[in-house]
Amino acid sequence: MDKFTYEKPYYTLTQYYNEKYGCKIGKIALNANFTCPNKDGKKGYGGCTYCSKPGSGDLAGDKNKPLKEQFDDIKNIMESKWPSIKYMPYLQANSNTYDKLENLKNIYNEVLNIYPDKTVGISIATRADCIDEEIADYLGELNKVTNVQIELGLQSSNENTGVLINRCSTNLEFVNAVNLLRKYNIEIIVHIINGLPYENENDMINTINFINKLDVQGIKFHSLLILKETKIALQYEKEKFHILTLDEYVDITTKQIMNLRPDIVIHRLAADGVYDDLIAPLWTRKKLVVMNEIDKKLRSLNAYQGINYKGESK
Ligand code: SF4
Repeated sequence: MDKFTYEKPYYTLTQYYNEKYGCKIGKIALNANFTCPNKDGKKGYGGCTYCSKPGSGDLAGDKNKPLKEQFDDIKNIMESKWPSIKYMPYLQANSNTYDKLENLKNIYNEVLNIYPDKTVGISIATRADCIDEEIADYLGELNKVTNVQIELGLQSSNENTGVLINRCSTNLEFVNAVNLLRKYNIEIIVHIINGLPYENENDMINTINFINKLDVQGIKFHSLLILKETKIALQYEKEKFHILTLDEYVDITTKQIMNLRPDIVIHRLAADGVYDDLIAPLWTRKKLVVMNEIDKKLRSLNAYQGINYKGESK
């Protein structure tokens, strides 16, 4: 299989960006101070049980700083290491399509015009229920002049888990949002979480099988993080549900990669290490170790992305 004659036994983001842009692309995580319909009462209150105060954007910029300043903070570090790097700014915290269209347009244009010559596109994290025809149509127009990536949180395809984590959004809404965005040729990256309460290996493999059937282009794997001052931290304290060990995470994620459609780009294999607010699992602080263990496991099995996938590529 051509794709996996490259360095890694899976379709990496580095490889994809090299094919597409021919250079290193740095992702600049920004916080534009949006909120979320799962927090303000439109869909639910309090948010998903694992959601942290910054709206699952713990490593995004400081919302109190102007976007340019947030951009510069990361750009300066990256440019000292890779002088010819280009950028994909990433609106990460909360739901970044949840506002009036005029406001969205202003923010996206502001971000794209901070360093227009060095910016290859914009990545926007949101919820499936924050995509409607009007927004998709606008994103489609924007996608004609730059590259628009939409990052959609699914977390799990098990609807019971969805209720348990207070996702307040259904699989059907997810499928509808994917179909709508693809009508406008917009690249979609799905986020999933491994190790959600009471999920077993089958649930996590089923989530991959669910994604394989959809016209999505990328995936981010995360491990569940129990962070201080979240609802899931209280649930964990009370119920002490099973938390994945490093070996279990590596084993399950390896199996998921082997089942994953080969054309889906893997943007992330493990959550970024959080230090101050992390309660469990502590091994998640060593992201590189997690990634290396997954590589090692795939190689020891002589396996690669999609080896067990039975369907067709998109
Ligand atoms: S959808 Fe995202 S931002 Fe909103 S509550 Fe859930 S994790 Fe937090």
